[in-house]
Formats: sequence, structure tokens, C-alpha cells
Amino acid sequence: MSQYKYLLQESDLPDQWYNIAADMPEPAGPPLDPGSGQPIGPEALAPLFPMALIEQEVSPERYTPIPDEVREVYKLWRPTPLYRAHRLEKALETPAHIYYKYEGVSPAGSHKPNTAVAQAYYNREAGVTRLTTETGAGQWGSALAMACNFFGIELKVYMVNVSYEQKPYRRIMMETWGAQVVASPTSETNSGRAILEKDPQSPGSLGIAISEAMEVAATNDDTNYSLGSVLNHVLLHQTVIGQESIKQMEMAGEYPDVVIGCAGGGSNFAGLALPLLRDRLVNGKKTRFVAAEPEACPTLTRGEYTYDFGDASSMTPLMPMYTLGHSFVPPAIHSGGLRYHGMAPLISKLVKDGHVEAKAYHQTSAFDAALQFARSEAILPAPESSHAILAAVEEAIAAREAGEKRVILFNLSGHGHFDLGAYEQYLRGNLEDFSYPAEAVKEALAEIPKVGSA
Ligand SMILES: *Cc1c(COP(=O)(O)O)cnc(C)c1O
Repeated sequence: MSQYKYLLQESDLPDQWYNIAADMPEPAGPPLDPGSGQPIGPEALAPLFPMALIEQEVSPERYTPIPDEVREVYKLWRPTPLYRAHRLEKALETPAHIYYKYEGVSPAGSHKPNTAVAQAYYNREAGVTRLTTETGAGQWGSALAMACNFFGIELKVYMVNVSYEQKPYRRIMMETWGAQVVASPTSETNSGRAILEKDPQSPGSLGIAISEAMEVAATNDDTNYSLGSVLNHVLLHQTVIGQESIKQMEMAGEYPDVVIGCAGGGSNFAGLALPLLRDRLVNGKKTRFVAAEPEACPTLTRGEYTYDFGDASSMTPLMPMYTLGHSFVPPAIHSGGLRYHGMAPLISKLVKDGHVEAKAYHQTSAFDAALQFARSEAILPAPESSHAILAAVEEAIAAREAGEKRVILFNLSGHGHFDLGAYEQYLRGNLEDFSYPAEAVKEALAEIPKVGSA
């Protein structure tokens, strides 16, 4: 058997998704109605999501079967490969064994199609003909554009302005798959107009784009909304990553000591980590879990654990999570997918309870790690994924210093072929680091509603 890559058969593709909520000693708190402070019922979400997804959002079931039609689409690129990074290990002179699961082999180039395909399927089943969504770097928008194309659904994408400017090729990819793309904030929605009034040059943010997409879905009967991260059902769909990885680590004859993912809204980290975290919660394994985030948007390491809105305009229910404040607009770092003020409630709770650690990194250090990775393993990582690579490199160096064999598994959530502009800036020495925006966060934290305690 190859000592470089571990490949599964199509028949090894998981036939169910795993729900960590079934195994958590203490549940994450329920979403609250901002007006009454009481838990919301399913009807509150019905204008936005099909009932099947709302049920998954609140499901206590440990496993949910994956519909055949969804598995058939997954088979275009799944199971994805798991690699052992021998050359990176050598470059680092570490006794650690470094493994990575590579989600960049999907047609859209990241893990995001795992949930996009499922969401498009359930919307089609519910008779929905139009979806709206937000996208940061364009990874989510392209994943959903691909999925909607498969299931005959029209898609309008609100793309964060700074990325719209930085990444025209992502927009063209979405348009190729049939989606309509606009730069957010737009003047077409109340939420967009309100932001533009305050700041006509607004770079936009994921929170703002979410507000716009939600507003359009909530005010049009034929239109639903789709979110690419954060929510329970999104994390659920991503667990195919971890389930496959467990089988592949068995093929390699190893079990990870530390599991790493980058964290924007928490979905790719969750996808890899949660099936393995079950072993920690249920079987007493001592595996460590590390979520890596940007220093410019350090939700887990510097945020508050409290109830806050998921969007910038206070339209969503309140969710219990680590947050920098829903009005916080993160600096324009190149990891567009990590520029989110909040974090998935499930991941937030696991961090709060000490099952998951968090680390924050500057983008130039993340690019240093990306370059070292590209020069040893050849794959050009997405800037987001580079945060996970850096965390893995740090673990490997710590193992070297401690003289111990450590088995490291990280998620390479996507490739960086659409991020060459960022690579160019890095290579020319023009990449800026944004220090932790303490004042802006302080102001945004002051605007968090005082409802409920998480
Ligand atoms: C969107 C994205 C992320 C961040 O989102 P999560 O929900 O935290 O996974 C990370 N990596 C890539 C490649 C992405 O496209």
C-alpha cells in the first residue's frame, strides 16, 4: 500500500451524517427570539429554510441517512484522499507524523459542496425554485452555484465587496454555473442601504451579506436562503470528512493525537473533528482538537461567549456563541472565509467546555506555512487552510522539541488557485498584517443585546 496517500472506494462513502449533539454532555443553548428572549420554534425559520433542514437543525438523532441523490453527486469527487506529508515532516525534521485530508479536490475547490449539495437537494424536494446566499471569498457561492445547477434552482449571491474586487475569477465561476452575483452591500436591500449610508466605501462583511440575502428570502415567497457555515445542519453535512478520515487513518494504522482545522464559521473544522471528537466524549480518548483562526478576526481566542445575532443587521435569532459583536467588520485579510464575527454554536460550546483549543495567527505567518507546504507537498493551499497548516507545523515543531512521536491530522479545506493575487502580494513582500482590532471589537461587543445568558 502507498505510504503517501490513503484512498477509499466509492462504496466506502458514508451513508449517514453524524450529529455531535447526541453525544455532548451538555447541549449548546437553543436559539432565542430577540424580542421575547424565549427559544424560537421551527416556524420562525420556515420562511428561510425547508422543513427537512429545520428538523436537522434541532435533531437529537445521532445519525441522519444521506439521501441517495446526494450521495450520487458526492461521488463526483468523494471519498477524498488522505495524505501523509512525508516531505513536510522531513523539512521540519520532526518525528511527528503529519496527515492531511484534502477537500480541495471538489469541483468548487473546497469542502463547501458537502453541504451545498445537501441543501440544494432538500430545497428542490420542498419545491423551492430560488435561493439567495452570501459569500466571502467566493468559495461558498461557487459551491452553492454548482449544487443549484444540479438541482435546477436559481441562485442569487451577495458577495462581500472586498472579495468581489479581489477575486473576479470566483465570480466568473459562479456565473458559469448559472448564478447571479452582486457586490454586497448593495443598494437593493434595506440592510445594504443602511450600511452604505454610514460608510459608502464599506468593504462589506459576511455579516452584512447574510443580512441582505436573508432579507430577500424572508420577503419573497418563492425564495429560500442558504447558509454555508455556522448552523447545526451545515456542520452535520460536513461530517462525511471525518468519517472518511477515520477509515483512512485505520488504513495507515494510526490514530491522531491532535486534530486541526481552520475556523471561520466552524464547518470544515467540525466536519473533520466531530466524528473523532465522539471518541473523546464517549470513549475517553485523549485526542486534542485545535481550531485555527486569524488574528484579525479572533472570535474564539478574544471573543465573548454570549448570545448574539448571526448577521450584521440583527435579523437572525440570537445564537449562543463566541462572538466579536455582530456589528464588527473585520479587516480585509485575504482569508475571506475566516472573516466572520461569530462561530458555530456547537463549536463554541465545545471550546467553552474545554474539548477544543483555539489559536490565532497573522496572515503573513499563515502564508509562510502555505509556502513551506507548497514547496514540500506541492498543493497550493487556500489562505484559510494555511491557518490549519501553521497550527500543524507548530505541533510538529513542538513534537521535535519534546522528542516525541505525535500523530497530527489536519484538514486542508481547499486549494488556493483563485487566491494567486494574495500569493503574489506575499511573494513581493506586500502582504500586510492587521493587528488585533481591539477598539473596533470593544465597540461591537458593547452592541451585543442583553438577552439571555449563554
Ligand atoms: C469557507 C472556507 C473556510 C471557512 O469556513 P468554515 O465554515 O469555518 O469551514 C475554510 N477554508 C476554506 C477553503 C473555505 O472555503
